Amino acid sequence: MNKERKLIVAGNWKMNKTVAEALELVRDLKHELANIKEVDIVVCPPFTALSEVAQVIRGSNIDLGAQNMSEHGPGAYTGEIAAEMLGELAVRYVILGHSERRQYQKESDELISKKAQAAHAASLQPIVCVGETLAEREAGQTEKVLETQVRGSSKGLSKAQAVETIIAYEPVWAIGTGKTATTAQAQEAHAFIRGLLVKLLDEGTARRVRIQYGGSVKPSNARELMSQPDVDGALVGGASLEAKSFAEIIKNSV
Ligand code: PEP
Repeated sequence: MNKERKLIVAGNWKMNKTVAEALELVRDLKHELANIKEVDIVVCPPFTALSEVAQVIRGSNIDLGAQNMSEHGPGAYTGEIAAEMLGELAVRYVILGHSERRQYQKESDELISKKAQAAHAASLQPIVCVGETLAEREAGQTEKVLETQVRGSSKGLSKAQAVETIIAYEPVWAIGTGKTATTAQAQEAHAFIRGLLVKLLDEGTARRVRIQYGGSVKPSNARELMSQPDVDGALVGGASLEAKSFAEIIKNSV
């Protein structure tokens, strides 16, 4: 697939996989995806498996991501994990502001922007998630919600940092539900986000930012979604938990 920006496909394993299961999955992926050069491939295991997964993928074409981090540097924050600690484990990406964290941990755009700044300060690339709920879409508020979330969660980032930030458009109604946005809905939202980035940054910078789609991506819909001009990859939940389906998504997107 000939794309303006290199595709990036990340697997969000959420709160799944023991260390042994994580290692089995990542070994299978390494084998299945050894020849893929056209796509940036990322796996985001739970914190408990990061260290051992890092050792298996070292030197391969698979990069490591975390699912969250603290907005603070190291210090007295019991139960939290600092960006520097992730960097030490060869983590390169970090998912921020996933809708599950926005919903269950009440994460705000302001908090997410602080985390994004802390991630960049530690040379991690944030994957910042945005997306509307079904009620918001039905009320015609999709663009308003996306604008608020993109503006709020990327506040304070320099243009250079914005280019190194991945935005994941994840309509909440499509996450884990089996309902996927149509290609037209996905492209429309992505084009809106890119247009907003043109206003916030400039045309040239906005064209370099990668925007992933997330929400029930599977092998059967990956190709069509990623063939859209402003869809630069996928953030995959359920289908990333099995090597076969995650590898197929990536192979189908090439
Ligand atoms: C996600 O959690 O980011 C996600 C997109 O999940 P799923 O692919 O299962 O809808």
